[in-house]
Amino acid sequence: MTRPTSRLLPEVTADSAAFWSGGADGELRIHRCRNCRRLFHPPVGACFRCRSRDVAPEAVSGRAVVASFTVNHHPWFGPMYPTPYVIGLVELVEEPDVRLTTQIVDCEPEAVSIGMAVEVVFEQHEDVWIPVFRPTEGGAPR
Ligand SMILES: [Zn+2]
Repeated sequence: MTRPTSRLLPEVTADSAAFWSGGADGELRIHRCRNCRRLFHPPVGACFRCRSRDVAPEAVSGRAVVASFTVNHHPWFGPMYPTPYVIGLVELVEEPDVRLTTQIVDCEPEAVSIGMAVEVVFEQHEDVWIPVFRPTEGGAPR
């Protein structure tokens, strides 16, 4: 599976800057609420569970499990995004209800399965590090 050479980039905000730049240090940074201690995503200025504004990004392991996925065959963006590619919904091992919509890379679409262990890798495009996920070496399904 060929990875895109460029990507549509997000609009980085003050709240999301740590998420989009963590890859510079090899870190997947997810917001944690310091009041209820739960992780949450996407990063915003208040915890959706307890409404506390005492929230901040912190590094997590970058390990996750594929909760769902789809294989895209349509060339929505022409040659920019070679098809087919796998759009995945992954659950962080630290807190499974924190799910990221991402791309599953470094394996053929036929090899992806629900429950597959994956780990983050980063693609740098301009000043943004896009977190994508690849199968974990020797990773066992849950
Ligand atoms: Zn909270």
